[in-house]
Amino acid sequence: MKNKNKSIVVVGAGIVGVSTALWLQKQGEEVILIDSSQPGTGASFGNAGLLAQWAMVPVNVPELWKSAPKYLLSKSSPVFMRWSYFPKLIPWLAKFMANATENRSNEIIKNLTPLVQDAVDQHQNLVKGTQAAKWLRDSKFSYVYRTHEAFKADSFGWKIKSNLGFIPNLVLGDDVREEEPILSPDIRCMAVLEGQGHITNPLGYVTELFKVFQKNGGKFINKAVKNFNIIHDQIHSVQLEGEEILCQKAVVTSGIWSKSLIKNLKINVPLETERGYHVIYEKPSVEPRNPMMITEGKFGVTPMTTGLRCAGTVELGGLNASASKKPIDFIKKISLKTFPELKFEKTSEWMGFRPTLPDSLPMIGEIQNTGIFTGFGHQHIGMTSGPKTGFILSQLVTDKKPNLDISGFSPERFN
Ligand SMILES: Cc1cc2nc3c(=O)[nH]c(=O)nc-3n(C[C@H](O)[C@H](O)[C@H](O)COP(=O)(O)OP(=O)(O)OC[C@H]3O[C@@H](n4cnc5c(N)ncnc54)[C@H](O)[C@@H]3O)c2cc1C
Repeated sequence: MKNKNKSIVVVGAGIVGVSTALWLQKQGEEVILIDSSQPGTGASFGNAGLLAQWAMVPVNVPELWKSAPKYLLSKSSPVFMRWSYFPKLIPWLAKFMANATENRSNEIIKNLTPLVQDAVDQHQNLVKGTQAAKWLRDSKFSYVYRTHEAFKADSFGWKIKSNLGFIPNLVLGDDVREEEPILSPDIRCMAVLEGQGHITNPLGYVTELFKVFQKNGGKFINKAVKNFNIIHDQIHSVQLEGEEILCQKAVVTSGIWSKSLIKNLKINVPLETERGYHVIYEKPSVEPRNPMMITEGKFGVTPMTTGLRCAGTVELGGLNASASKKPIDFIKKISLKTFPELKFEKTSEWMGFRPTLPDSLPMIGEIQNTGIFTGFGHQHIGMTSGPKTGFILSQLVTDKKPNLDISGFSPERFN
């Protein structure tokens, strides 16, 4: 039996939560958004702002079996391990690697494709007529390689992307500097995708969307959710410190923190963080014309309102350890080598927590018909797929059937 309170509570105001709250409002729902911090200050704050429509190929592809030892042991690799955390990581890592088979990769790619491939349209749809639109840009996007051979070595991913319509224009040799004068003459290959998009200020973007939510009558509570109160197998309320918020349904969009939040709900959530870093070159003397991925360093480079942001790398080290210096030094070393003429006033640095499940798929769905829905686990593509996830969740919450197969995203799939 459902309680009579009509509100839908959304827990977590990152890109996924704010998008969900807005789509629920568009469906005519009364929404309460709760966040222990200010909206947009989690992982959604410091990402590369890329609307990565082409990013349906996960990190754990079959090739990872060959490259993982090199990634973990080499001193010049974009993957960092905090070895003191390694024993705790083993169960997740074992499952992550178990998904790096051809069959599983194909299945994962099939699931991720509809979540990312129309991301620019999804974002445009969400921000139409709002101030957030000023942070959204159409752009090309390039993968930058030192050599043509390095591009060819990436054939696994490019074959999949090309089959899905993401066919790159190859720019080779001296033509690379014609396309992007900021690049070093040592860079001899670019794979350029037309018709992409990016966000020039992720925090500004989420904040503007949040303001729209408030303007539409949405209520915001700036407190931590402690627990979910369930009566007769149905959500009754969410528990805050000294306060209980009654609700009809609840949506958990709390990024990496979702795991501890729903620990009492008897579902297995093997969520781990891939810590990522950014360096912003403030007041840069030169900027690229379009965002790019420096493949040697596995980080994105995006001209933003706050400066030139280089964001990426993966550090496995859990939620509690403080930021490390090595990934920051790594990003600086590779970016300054790649952009030899870059001068800047100063840098600022950041570390954030990508939420990743072992099969690289998010959890989007309802937990055991409780009226509690999940929307987390978006690994490297949360900024890209936040609006689409929000739309899917708004349909689920309002008892509509999404027009894509979401069974692969089931929150109960690890039970
Ligand atoms: C270096 C880096 C670069 C990246 N680049 C890109 C990119 O270019 N493109 C892309 O698509 N993705 C990128 N990502 C990934 C993307 O940033 C994330 O997938 C995405 O931001 C996740 O959004 P979210 O809304 O799920 O979580 P978050 O933004 O982390 O939001 C979760 C919110 O929940 C709140 N919360 C947590 N616990 C509670 C609680 N108990 N009660 C109330 N509130 C709570 C937090 O305060 C937070 O505001 C990158 C990530 C990193 C780290």
